Amino acid sequence: MFEDIKDNIYKIPNQYKNEFRRYKFKQNNLRILLISIFLLFEQLYYAIFISNPGSLLEKIFYVTASIMLIFAVSSMILYYHKPSEINFFHLIYEKGIGVMGVTIAVIRVVVISGQSARLTTIYIAVIYGLAVIFYYSYLESLFIYIYGIILLYFISVVYNPSLLESTVITDAVSNNVIAWIASIVIYRKFKNEFINQKTIEEKNKKLKEISDEDRLTGIYNRRKLEEILKENYNNSLRYNNKFSIILLDLDHFKNVNDNYGHQIGDKVLQEVSSLLLEKIRKVDYCGRWGGEEFLIILPETDLASAVKLAKRLRSEIGNYEFTKVQNITSSFGVSTYSSNKDIKEIIKAADEALYKAKDNGRNRVETIENNI
Ligand code: GH3
Ligand code: MG
Ligand code: MG
Repeated sequence: MFEDIKDNIYKIPNQYKNEFRRYKFKQNNLRILLISIFLLFEQLYYAIFISNPGSLLEKIFYVTASIMLIFAVSSMILYYHKPSEINFFHLIYEKGIGVMGVTIAVIRVVVISGQSARLTTIYIAVIYGLAVIFYYSYLESLFIYIYGIILLYFISVVYNPSLLESTVITDAVSNNVIAWIASIVIYRKFKNEFINQKTIEEKNKKLKEISDEDRLTGIYNRRKLEEILKENYNNSLRYNNKFSIILLDLDHFKNVNDNYGHQIGDKVLQEVSSLLLEKIRKVDYCGRWGGEEFLIILPETDLASAVKLAKRLRSEIGNYEFTKVQNITSSFGVSTYSSNKDIKEIIKAADEALYKAKDNGRNRVETIENNI
């Protein structure tokens, strides 16, 4: 999967598109929230303390403050109720702050530049601010910047034609192009960080899948046990080595969960694992075969020795004082390698022996071969 990602470092893989859209929206909305609250108070301050009462500028400040109030409230709502799917409304809203910002900036250019015919500081601040603060795709930001130029042109034609003879429009075009490029660079970085994050997550997931460890008990998991079985089996085939396996299952374990809860059940499984590890040889392998079943693989060991070890383990478990539960018994099925059996048959023999142990009253060791 992550090969796909690596091949297209600038493309969000299909399965992450939705998540990316939501992530981008979440990031943008947080920015809308902070910016709109800041601008709300800033514009109110300008309207009340700076501008001349009754002036056009005062009205613009009040209108801007009102729009920011709408954005502040909407973004607050969207902050606490994050959408699970980004719809058309969300997409419009996300760009809304950019379109609003550019609109206000253009109006300010036309109104304030009446005499001086130059781009205002606020215009510059808005277009570069948009580029560095918000994450817009190439087309989204292109749309906003082109919209700004067209709006500037038409508002100038209607309200301040003298601007058309100045350098205001060409200055705006140049600045918009640079702002657009800045926006692209920042968006690419944002997108690549997301892709990298996903790649790492994928890799971690894969690593977990190929891990050798059982998550609960820390001993080998079934996947690793199967691998070890195969190795031992092939070794035995080639060199005619002995090897045996012990399959053990805790007796009436369902009662442990029912009486003491699943957490105590888990704790007992951990304690059994440590006990088994402690009691086997360094060269033996012990893992969790499933639920409350454990498998021990004993290289270079014949059936009689395996049965002997199984019996010892049975009494070790029987005598151990487990957390809360105190006494637990276990049943064992033992089988051994022989050249006329494949791996499945060896496991099946241990499984059948285990059934036999359960049938014969539990807390015992059985084997289905009769040569012990
Ligand atoms: P038997 O003597 O016939 O083996 O009886 P049992 O109750 O041990 O066997 P059964 O197969 O009926 O139930 C096994 C129980 O083991 C049921 C299941 O909830 C529990 N179990 C399996 N895996 C886990 C685990 O990871 N944690 C806990 N706490 N319980 C587990
Ligand atoms: Mg059991
Ligand atoms: Mg079982």
